Amino acid sequence: MMQLETMLMVAPDAAAPAPMRQVISEAGFDLLHADSGEQGLQLCIEQKPSLALIHANMPDMDGITFFRRLRTQPGGVDIPTILMLSENNMDIAGQAYNSGFTDIIALPTNWQLTCYRLRYILRASVAMRSEREKTDAAIHKLAFHDQVTGLPNRMLFREHMSMAIHLARRNDHRIGLLFLDMDHFKRINDSLGHVAGDAVLQEVSSRLQQSIRATDLAAAERSGDKHALARFDGDEFTIMLTGVGNASHVNMVARRLLDSLNEPFILAGNKVMVTASIGIAMYPDDGDDIDTLLKQAEAAMHQVKASGRNGLFFYDDHLRMQNQNRLQLEAELYRALEQDELTLFYQPKVDADTLKTSGFEALVRWIHPDKGMVPPLDFIGVAEDSGLIIPMGKWVIKTACRQHQAWRKAGYGAVPISVNLSCHQFTDRQLLADVRDILCETGMDPAYLEFEITESVLMQNADTAMLALGEMKKMGVKISIDDFGTGYSSMAYLHRFPIDVLKVDRSFIMDLPGDQQEAAITSAIIQLAHALGLGVVAEGVENSEQLHFLKQLNCDLIQGYLFSPPVPGEKAEQIINTAFTT
Ligand code: C2E
Ligand code: CA
Ligand code: CA
Repeated sequence: MMQLETMLMVAPDAAAPAPMRQVISEAGFDLLHADSGEQGLQLCIEQKPSLALIHANMPDMDGITFFRRLRTQPGGVDIPTILMLSENNMDIAGQAYNSGFTDIIALPTNWQLTCYRLRYILRASVAMRSEREKTDAAIHKLAFHDQVTGLPNRMLFREHMSMAIHLARRNDHRIGLLFLDMDHFKRINDSLGHVAGDAVLQEVSSRLQQSIRATDLAAAERSGDKHALARFDGDEFTIMLTGVGNASHVNMVARRLLDSLNEPFILAGNKVMVTASIGIAMYPDDGDDIDTLLKQAEAAMHQVKASGRNGLFFYDDHLRMQNQNRLQLEAELYRALEQDELTLFYQPKVDADTLKTSGFEALVRWIHPDKGMVPPLDFIGVAEDSGLIIPMGKWVIKTACRQHQAWRKAGYGAVPISVNLSCHQFTDRQLLADVRDILCETGMDPAYLEFEITESVLMQNADTAMLALGEMKKMGVKISIDDFGTGYSSMAYLHRFPIDVLKVDRSFIMDLPGDQQEAAITSAIIQLAHALGLGVVAEGVENSEQLHFLKQLNCDLIQGYLFSPPVPGEKAEQIINTAFTT
């Protein structure tokens, strides 16, 4: 049986007599009739006919006006529209074609034949519409899919996730978000080339897809949603599991995904092993918006990487706690700076020959209202990450300079003071200007100020470091390389850096003099420093055997618990001019 198509005829009654409408109905059309333009438009909106026939002259408007108005209606463009003209009206035929009518019928006509023609027009317009939909779909696919794997891309994934979250919120469901990062993918790309890299990505994508499909829990199976898996970026894939009961279900899926990669990949005849690390965040447990969930899942993935790769981690309580503690610490550190909870301790550097204090290293302490004294290693990292290290470091330099000046005024003479500079500070453009201001404000002679910079910081960017050090030297301050021996200094740079002192790292001193290897290294560092015209400080000296050994090697200065731990300013004052005995 022929399918009934709805046809709307907009024509004055006289132009649409009953016998004609009869013919059309018999040809298999469900005919609607409107005898005015307004009524016709109304019916178009309400009934969405498959086809509209418009008479050129209606009592309230002409056919072309009707057509223009129809096009502005939602869906109006999709209705094939045909103009009916009487023979004395043919002069507007050209105008009708130009304005976009699908066809024109001259009246009177043989309606039986015309109905065949209308069927043909209908079929053609359906075909055209589906062609257009295909093009639209292709464009959509290009914009929202990854070209290599054909998977949804980051943009589409986010869109789907946002819908999923919306639904989950309403239905009180949970979502598992998996963040998968391939292990050592760069190695594959670098050694086998990008073509092979792409092949691996395709294979990984299809294995993941299969293994998600195999899991009845996965959204793909439940709701027909095909977008559970996406290529997020480079070698990162994201997987969203909707409607999951609890974390153990998600755990099972994630396991299965990892297992799916176990079989070796065959690339140009070579067997290649591929593994991945998966981090998991749960909605709403770990966050209730896309960005938070992605961030947590990625953080968990990095935990997997850090603990040896090829595995999975949930963004669990531990991470959450860690994060919270960090945030809290950061907030507290702000307060500490504002409310003067920081203080400086001073540890003497003792002349190896005379055992007299020859200067101090300033070391920051945080006197926390509840926790008491917090050591710098517990908060320097947070200060670095949050940028607080900049104002904090400035405070340290200023306080050390003021202390120097206070001792000087009190008659203790000019006591050299060294200050530690962290990586962030050292690379901060503002540092030099700040130091200049502080020297100016306190009136300290720069010759007594020394900056301790760890070896690794200098080596990370040796060329820029060289420039910065040069500027500092011009200012007249001294520079020492801290923790020397741990940061793989290049000899080529060492003699070109404008530095004054090497501080031998505590790890070499610790096992002196018994450990022959450490003894040899320490001896070599001291000789090297002297050959380059530099002073040497040994850090962490705790006993007199170490002291004795270092004296033999001609080490210049000694620092360590053997003489004194870092102490508050008032206490330091008492040891400025004392000679220690051992
Ligand atoms: P560092 O510059 O290597 O400082 C020496 C650390 O060794 C100090 O720890 C000091 O108390 C400790 N120490 C000194 N003698 C001995 C000893 O004989 N035995 C042992 N076991 N330890 C000894 P502290 O004060 O906890 O500082 C730790 C690190 O924190 C410092 O290492 C430095 O890198 C950083 N730091 C301290 N104050 C500041 C600061 O004001 N700014 C910056 N950027 N970093 C600082
Ligand atoms: Ca130091
Ligand atoms: Ca050190």
